[in-house]
Amino acid sequence: MSDFITTYEIYIRLSFFFGIFILMAIWEMLAPKRALTTSKLLRWLNNLGLVVLNSLILRWLFPAATVGLAILAHQAGWGLLNYYQLPIWMSIVIAVTAMDFMIYLQHVMVHAIPLLWRLHRVHHADLDYDVTTGIRFHPLEIILSMLIKFAMIIILGPPVIAVIIFEVVLNALAMFNHGNIALPKTVDWLLRWLIVTPDMHRVHHSVEDDETNSNFGFNLSCWDRIFGTYRQQPRAGHQNMTIGIHQFKQAKQVVWITGLLILPFQGKIKEYAINTRRWNSGSD
Ligand SMILES: [Zn+2]
Ligand SMILES: [Zn+2]
Repeated sequence: MSDFITTYEIYIRLSFFFGIFILMAIWEMLAPKRALTTSKLLRWLNNLGLVVLNSLILRWLFPAATVGLAILAHQAGWGLLNYYQLPIWMSIVIAVTAMDFMIYLQHVMVHAIPLLWRLHRVHHADLDYDVTTGIRFHPLEIILSMLIKFAMIIILGPPVIAVIIFEVVLNALAMFNHGNIALPKTVDWLLRWLIVTPDMHRVHHSVEDDETNSNFGFNLSCWDRIFGTYRQQPRAGHQNMTIGIHQFKQAKQVVWITGLLILPFQGKIKEYAINTRRWNSGSD
C-alpha cells in the first residue's frame, strides 16, 4: 500500500488538487457566502496564473521535492523518527501533527517579521476570499515554505507516507478553508474542534490588524486555541467585514499577476524587525 502511494504520489496529489478545487468551485458558484467585490474571471486568471508559475518554479528548483527528501532521509537514517523506529501509525500521527504545528509557527513568523510579511501580504491582499485565495502565494514565500519543510524533514525524519498525507491534506484544507461557502452554524462549530473552517480562517483575512493577527492555523484548529491566537468571529460579521490589506486596494497592485509579483517590494521599510500586535481600541 505504502509503495503504491509512493509510486503514484504525483497522480494522487494532482487528483486531490483538481478534485477538491472543482468541488469547491461548484459549491462557491451554487451557494456563495459573500458577494464578490472584484471580477471573478480576472481574479481567477491571475491567481491561477500565479499557481502555475509557482508550480513551474518549484519543479525547476526542487524536482525531488519533499517526498524525495523524505526518501533520502529514510535511506540515510536522518531524523528523530528514523532513529527511534516507532510503530508506523504512531510515526505518521506524530509527523503529520508536528508538520502542521511547524506550518502554524511559520505562519505566525511571516506575520511578525516585516520582511516576510511583505511576501505573505500577496496572500492577504486578495480583495475577495475564495478557493483561489487559498493557493495564491508569492513565489519567494513558496520557496521559503519549501526550505522550511526540508529542514523539518531532515530533523524529524517522517515516514514518506506521512509527508504525502501532509502535502495532500494541507493543499485540500487550504482550498476548503478559503472557500466562499456557508456551512451550517452547528457543522462549523463541530468541525472547528478539529480543523480550521472557512469562517474561522476568514477572520484572518480581515483588514483589521488584530483580526489578521489571529487564526493562523491551516489544518488543525488546536494551535490557535492553545497559543491564544484564536478568534471566533470577525467584529463586523462575515458579511460586512472587509477582506484585504488597508494600504493595497488598486486592481493593478492586488489583482494583476504583475502587481502581485512586485507587491513585496512596494513601500518603505520602516517597521521594527519584530512586530508587536497592535490592538484596536475597544477590542480585547
Ligand atoms: Zn496570514
Ligand atoms: Zn489565508
